[in-house]
Amino acid sequence: MLDKAKMWTNQRNKELRDRAAKVIPGGMYGHQSTAILPDVYPQFFRRAEGTRLWDTDGNEYIDYMCAFGPNLLGYRHPSVEDAATTQQRLCDTATGPSEIMVELAERFVSMISHADWAMFCKNGTDATTMAMMCARAHTKKRKILAAKKAYHGAAPWCNPYVAGTVPEERAHMLYYEYNNPQSLEDAFRAAGDDVAGVFASAFRHDVFEDQELPTPEFAQSARDLCDRTGALLIVDDVRAGFRLARDCSWSTVGIQPDLSAWGKCIANGYPLSALLGSEKARAAAQKIFVTGSFWFQAIPMAAAIATLNQIQKTDYLERMEKTGAMLRSGLATQASSHGFSLRQTGPVQMPMILFDDDPDMRLGYGWVSEALTRGVYIHPWHNNFICAALTENDVKLTLEITDEAFAALKKKRATLGPVPQLAARFARLHDESLTAAR
Ligand SMILES: *Cc1c(COP(=O)(O)O)cnc(C)c1O
Repeated sequence: MLDKAKMWTNQRNKELRDRAAKVIPGGMYGHQSTAILPDVYPQFFRRAEGTRLWDTDGNEYIDYMCAFGPNLLGYRHPSVEDAATTQQRLCDTATGPSEIMVELAERFVSMISHADWAMFCKNGTDATTMAMMCARAHTKKRKILAAKKAYHGAAPWCNPYVAGTVPEERAHMLYYEYNNPQSLEDAFRAAGDDVAGVFASAFRHDVFEDQELPTPEFAQSARDLCDRTGALLIVDDVRAGFRLARDCSWSTVGIQPDLSAWGKCIANGYPLSALLGSEKARAAAQKIFVTGSFWFQAIPMAAAIATLNQIQKTDYLERMEKTGAMLRSGLATQASSHGFSLRQTGPVQMPMILFDDDPDMRLGYGWVSEALTRGVYIHPWHNNFICAALTENDVKLTLEITDEAFAALKKKRATLGPVPQLAARFARLHDESLTAAR
């Protein structure tokens, strides 16, 4: 543990899991279910501050998941909390939106090069679904192209699992290979003259896979194909937004989309997402009926303005790049000194950390488990996240712990078996029939 005097325990978490199993289906659902993580991973937490998390047993962790993205500046960042508290005294959900909604929309339009307007909602799925509707309203066409295995949310049209959905809900989805212009062109051809929109993730950040930044050729071909056919180009920046750039992530490859979907960190953990669009898509955005009881909450909007202030006025991004690079090179050196080989892919501030020669992930699961019980929370098959509160000292402390974790893994290597919970679920997560190219 970070506090060497304290022993890691998970008694309270176990008790809570047992209680949850009775009143919450499966004990937990969606991406928050730890059923597919190593057994030692805590399901419930009590407190979060800066880079640190405390679980219900009081174990402290340096957290490299950042709430799966929403934590950008550090949990409970003082200026964001101040803005939220000030707004809380005025109004949150009311009969109409607060005046700060206009200011927030102006801020996004001024910061994001392609954006001429903004609409706000709660979750990333709201924003991607609105983008889909907007593309269809704009083109009066039906087909939506998305990359195989790319995550765009949990609505029936994009859900990674089949349970509770019907094939008709994906009837107009076609899939292409990310970073492969030929495959995108083939998907356009297969769709005939019926393409409403093309979804592209900010970069390739699929679970269990090495990550890839978009190539300029791929991004350019997506732009050209959309321009040629009138389809709208949609960048899904829900996960990567503001972690790669202070603009839309595809600004890094010089391509402007027509629509971009945002969520996760735009209000540093407060519930807010957004659809941003260019002038071309404004009339369509005005036509579609999209809303929600809580979409106009003022507290998250105040938190977002405070977050955007930090994004514009501080070196938050450069700091994440620096600590992320430190972590990456430290881990690479450690791994090889203990006789392991890691594949660390994607931007350093959103690292995917996989082991070579680990087809059933027993090394990955073994290593993150050893790190976890010593106080470092790393995800074995999803990209991790660096937040701006992470200091060089935090990275040094992390590396001390991961070094011990590699040493412990090396000792146990011969005795490690296949990961049972993974074997059972692996097939479903890799259900390629869902996004098979047609
Ligand atoms: C998380 C995510 C979504 C969905 O966002 P929610 O807030 O979970 O609905 C969509 N796209 C990407 C790329 C994501 O990472």
